[in-house]
Amino acid sequence: MTDHTNADTLRTPIVAVLGHVDHGKTSLLDKIRGSAVSEGEAGAITQHIGATDIPLDTISGMAGELIDPTDFDLPGLLFIDTPGHHSFSTLRARGGALADIAVLVVDVNDGFQPQTEEAIDILRRTGTPFVVAANKVDTTPGWNPQEGQPIQKSLEAQSERAESMLNENLYEIIGQLSDAGFSADLYWRVQDFQKNIGVVPLSAITGEGVPDLLTVLMGLSQRFMKEEMAIDVFGAGEGTVLEVKDERGFGATIDTVVYDGVVRNGDRIVVGGQEDPIVTEIRALLQPRPLEEIRTEKQFEKVGEVGAAAGVKIAAPDLDRAMAGAPVRVVRDRPVEEVVEEVKAELAEIEVDTAEDGVVVKADTLGSLEAMANALREAEVPILRAEVGDIAPRDIAVAETANQDEHKAILGFNVDLLANAETELENADVKLFTDDVIYQLIEEYETYVEEKQRAQQ
Ligand code: GDP
Repeated sequence: MTDHTNADTLRTPIVAVLGHVDHGKTSLLDKIRGSAVSEGEAGAITQHIGATDIPLDTISGMAGELIDPTDFDLPGLLFIDTPGHHSFSTLRARGGALADIAVLVVDVNDGFQPQTEEAIDILRRTGTPFVVAANKVDTTPGWNPQEGQPIQKSLEAQSERAESMLNENLYEIIGQLSDAGFSADLYWRVQDFQKNIGVVPLSAITGEGVPDLLTVLMGLSQRFMKEEMAIDVFGAGEGTVLEVKDERGFGATIDTVVYDGVVRNGDRIVVGGQEDPIVTEIRALLQPRPLEEIRTEKQFEKVGEVGAAAGVKIAAPDLDRAMAGAPVRVVRDRPVEEVVEEVKAELAEIEVDTAEDGVVVKADTLGSLEAMANALREAEVPILRAEVGDIAPRDIAVAETANQDEHKAILGFNVDLLANAETELENADVKLFTDDVIYQLIEEYETYVEEKQRAQQ
């Protein structure tokens, strides 16, 4: 058991990285982790399930003169490891938002793209503070790379031409942010990060500008989120399901981000499930071995407890019905019914409006289901049924009951067709669309509808 006598009551802010495909989310996370590890101090980072914890000392080492660690009392930053739609789709939870703060990665040459807009919509709706990482500055023609340097140092080393080309691209992004309703500027010109979005030019490959990004993230958290980071270290654990996974020897497990309290082995928990909340008891809390080892083979060690903020894998009976994006609550010192009602109430907030006639929607997480529902509403496509999970025979049967032919369709976001539903689909008059990009999925469906209508004329 951990010694709680010196427990800190401020937790680490949770950071998610979003952005359009190929704009460099994975590279940026890799760079941050890599440079943190090469900082070399013992405990430079801690690898959790689904997240990487970078303590303030390490951040301060990486940021050099940009950060004075004595200005901060937040313990560091916890980066959610899965970039894109996964972190994205779990962003929504209020009150215990999975991500406290976000990095929106935009390729500086490519500007805003459809998934950038999707990300902005979600950030706006959830009121999540964010910073823009204007990535790939090193691809500016004539760029003279400055490994790992703060961006000002790097800019000093550039030709006038390269600098002005970069500036042109940066102002394009600032303009696009303004079109999206956000006042933004280059981060060193921003006085009030709550009113203005800071744009940090950087490269996920050379690492220049990364010290600046970490500095801005720390500064934003410290100044505007300190109160929200106050937690009850001994309280009943609260978290969000990141992913539901089968793990050999453990059955269905949930990768969970704990954002408040403490979760202990043996605890009774309530987890948001496909139908009713699941009430179960933790059989094992699992965390990965140090980074070098998990890169070679999947190995877990059992831990006795984890406190916020942390990523942990929970093994317990009945978790196969758990939903990614759903709440996880430890039951301690109060009736289980009360906790079940709380979980139900939280899930009810994400109910999707359905119509008498419409398409069937399936998605991998509650958040992505919500994002799909919003996008379909904008495209004026009615929804007959919307659920989290892979496509099952039942979904095909439901889709077949749609009145209009064009509604006899299933739109699956980041889900698979279950093997036992394959023959069902072949024999049914139902069209299946699957994709892992929302706008593409909806576009595919719209194209199909247009073609169908044209054929009927
Ligand atoms: P993601 O889809 O957003 O996770 O993007 P990735 O991190 O996979 O990056 C997409 C491609 O862009 C890869 O080939 C990366 O090597 C490249 N890339 C990402 N960031 C940078 C950068 O800062 N500079 C350069 N030159 N290439 C980059």
